[in-house]
Amino acid sequence: MSRYAVGIDLGGTKVEACLVDETRQVLARRRRPSEPGLGREHVVRSILELAAETAGGAPYEAVGVGTPGTYGAADDIMYGAPHTPLYEKPGLVSLLRSELNVPLVVENDANCLALAEFFAQCHGCFSTIMAVILGTGMGAGLILGNRLHRGPNGNAGEIGHTSIAIDGRLCDCGRHGCGEAYLSGPSLGRRYAELAGEALPPDRIFERYEKGDPHARRIFEESFRIMGELFANCVNALDLEAIVLGGGVSNIPLWYSQVPPIMSKALFGIPRRTIPILKAVLGDSAGVLGAAYLALREIGLMEF
Ligand SMILES: [Zn+2]
Repeated sequence: MSRYAVGIDLGGTKVEACLVDETRQVLARRRRPSEPGLGREHVVRSILELAAETAGGAPYEAVGVGTPGTYGAADDIMYGAPHTPLYEKPGLVSLLRSELNVPLVVENDANCLALAEFFAQCHGCFSTIMAVILGTGMGAGLILGNRLHRGPNGNAGEIGHTSIAIDGRLCDCGRHGCGEAYLSGPSLGRRYAELAGEALPPDRIFERYEKGDPHARRIFEESFRIMGELFANCVNALDLEAIVLGGGVSNIPLWYSQVPPIMSKALFGIPRRTIPILKAVLGDSAGVLGAAYLALREIGLMEF
């Protein structure tokens, strides 16, 4: 007899659910708006309805929820998440837990993405990887020795807020020289605007790069070096075998060819290594799949 679990991806604008069985097969998927402005009771009810609808009567044994930010279990608050009524006040997770009749796991969405991408394209080839989400922000999840490394507070992998220049650009977090302050979509746009006097999204800057625009060329050439140094720091610290890149900014194809040679020169130890940067393959569905895998692990059906 099959066994089932439900994964939920709770974002700022949508909530998505999937039903998986013990073989990690996705059997159903649904989404609806998350409507965080309507308060936590509404959001919890919405999650419960969506889970039931997605399961379609299948007796699921656990639920995994992926969200932005980090869940602080001690005070029942989501930290570092978008500022919405959903996250600012305590109680969302405990309310959801009390309404569910099965075990609940809550995890940062970058960790969920790392898990899903690891099983989609690394498992069996690499045991130690970092998966980076580069979009409006920069976050990452770590798989070390085939295990999700979340750290005691679920905070491991915040490479977007490690600095590559102590007197560098001011980041929204208050530090200087953070990777996010250079490489996130909005940061690339701001850097281009400073040179060209025109704010553009990253894909448009890339179009101009291809046409030979000198400002776009300069922004990207600097960015290859910044990303190369930043990722090399992570490889030197963690002995990573590969880096997976997801999020909106990952659609620019230049990273995959231009950054590894720069990284290679900055690696310490075994010489002439090239650490591949792999494009995330699951797109939007990585978060919800990773959340489902956490639920499968909770009932003993996966190991990581
Ligand atoms: Zn920062």
